[in-house]
Amino acid sequence: MEDFKPISGSCICGEIEYTIKSKPLFTHACHCKDCKKITGSSFVVNTSIFENSLDIKGELLENKLIAGSGKSCKVYFCKKCGVYIYSDYEFAVKRISIRTNTLSNPELFPPQAHIFVKSKDPWINIVNKDICYDEMYDPKIAWPKESLDRYKEYLESN
Ligand SMILES: [Zn+2]
Ligand SMILES: [Zn+2]
Repeated sequence: MEDFKPISGSCICGEIEYTIKSKPLFTHACHCKDCKKITGSSFVVNTSIFENSLDIKGELLENKLIAGSGKSCKVYFCKKCGVYIYSDYEFAVKRISIRTNTLSNPELFPPQAHIFVKSKDPWINIVNKDICYDEMYDPKIAWPKESLDRYKEYLESN
């Protein structure tokens, strides 16, 4: 990996601590109804990482949900404090989505896209309309080429 320094994250109570060992691929905010419900907030911010790049310690609570796409999704929470740590969407092959704001430095990973903007709360005004999608985006269009290349290489070698 090019000079990437591992990044860390945690829940609130300290039970869960994790390290991400390779550079994340993409960060987006999702305004869909499920993400709002599960966070009890207006949107979730997710950073997509390679499945094998996460080192995590502590006890997690796992739940299986059906995502808006109709495909299954597993969600993981700290067993003690309930902080939502990551999700594993069936459609995202060998990738997982870390809750960006559980990172120690979430400001380094601002959303590169907003999805399901059709159901966003009306009082949220997203300034950059170029990165807004009514529903899901096609990674081939939304992702930087560098991330697409790394993901392709990872799929081929794992
Ligand atoms: Zn916790
Ligand atoms: Zn969502």
